[in-house]
Amino acid sequence: MSAKSIAKKHPDGDTPHLMKAALFSLVVLFAAVSISVSADKPNFVVIFCDDMGYGDLSSFGHPTIKTPNLDKMATEGQKWTNFYVAACVCTPSRAGLLTGRLPVRNGMCSDTRRVLFPDSSGGLPTTEVTIASALKKEGYRTAAVGKWHLGHLPEYLPTSHGFESYFGIPYSNDMDMTRRESHFELADKGDFSLYNVPLMRNAEIVERPADQTTITRRFTEEAVKKINEFGDEPFFIYLAHNLPHIPLFRSDAFKDTSTAGIYGDVIEEIDWSVGEVRKALDAAGVSEETLVVFTSDNGPWLKFKHHGGTAGMLRDGKGSTWEGGMREPTIMAWPGTIQPQIVHEMGATLDLLPTFVSLAGGTLPDDRTFDGYDLSAFLKGETKTAPRDEMFYYHGEQLFAVRKGQFKAHFKTKTSYIGQKKAEVHNPPLLYHLGLDPGEQWDVASENPEVIQSLQELADKHEQGLERVPSQLVGRIGE
Ligand code: MG
Repeated sequence: MSAKSIAKKHPDGDTPHLMKAALFSLVVLFAAVSISVSADKPNFVVIFCDDMGYGDLSSFGHPTIKTPNLDKMATEGQKWTNFYVAACVCTPSRAGLLTGRLPVRNGMCSDTRRVLFPDSSGGLPTTEVTIASALKKEGYRTAAVGKWHLGHLPEYLPTSHGFESYFGIPYSNDMDMTRRESHFELADKGDFSLYNVPLMRNAEIVERPADQTTITRRFTEEAVKKINEFGDEPFFIYLAHNLPHIPLFRSDAFKDTSTAGIYGDVIEEIDWSVGEVRKALDAAGVSEETLVVFTSDNGPWLKFKHHGGTAGMLRDGKGSTWEGGMREPTIMAWPGTIQPQIVHEMGATLDLLPTFVSLAGGTLPDDRTFDGYDLSAFLKGETKTAPRDEMFYYHGEQLFAVRKGQFKAHFKTKTSYIGQKKAEVHNPPLLYHLGLDPGEQWDVASENPEVIQSLQELADKHEQGLERVPSQLVGRIGE
């Protein structure tokens, strides 16, 4: 209970003087205890979009999409310009965020089936530690809202992975297709019936097909409800929007309102959602005790043209290990704790689990390898540099590229979903200086043989230490 709510419940109108003093002391005592508890255990809200590109927000340079709530959050908090996801497609990226481990370590990637499908029999193994299960041990309340995509069978659902509750679509919103029709025409009509995806509450299907025109709004309402329900108890809310993944839907309030067409409408509704979540934190009086992280699971789905997003000046998009596939527009806010700034340091969704556990006062289990770094000292301004200095870019089960400092070497490349059937092998690797050339246009391998050698050694060392396990993504129900 916060000092504010205690004070509210003890109006001191005609209370005798001595009693007033005693009450005041009690309030101060409770306030001190409450402040120390909340400072010890901040809340965490992760807002995770699907297929939103690096260049899709106004604050990240989009010239026609309006995102005032996210822009405000970026000004009040931190805008991260070098923040990565664990993979360039949905399922492995989500596994990486929630476990702090590269998906290749827990079988959540594959070269043949790159994500889970409605006929998949696998999912995130229950032996994995997730942000939710780790924080639950520290006394946190937990809720998952939105897209899961880490296994839709009961043993793999959020409620089997440390979340008290789940409300959402368990995989991508373009699955369970009932007939073949042009996505573009259906989107114009707002017809969601083609995609027979279920909407679930915990382990039960409550609506099918899910009415996707209201899905962003309903996920937002659920997150707000959880913020109010959890109140002063420490909490972790994972709000993973199904959009702007194709097919695009938005509620009536956002229909045909954006200069950037339907894709702009969708992003602008997500921006509204961020505003609602932050307003709810303010109203609950917990904004200063809450770290909010906003990012996306992978880059834009470029083959859908104006129905897909943009990676801005970054190269390529979803499905590729070029920067546009794995570097995401990331904003963090924690009023009063993190210093507002544009962060050029590197970070990754892999870092969220170690960071949150550290901020919650817990420790990581020592029986497994984590690929994330603890960003807490950097976030609190205790250090000027963030701990991450390298990034491993996986395409399915294969390491395609490595970044160390500003240099990135590509051992293999494959253009997202357009055209290229087989990966191209590069020997010597392609080399880009991401400081001078964020768009990966000019190969500087021939001028930097010593850099190539050190990046090759880094990749070799990483792969030698890797314990691979069978993929969870290839099995089918009934096999
Ligand atoms: Mg995605």
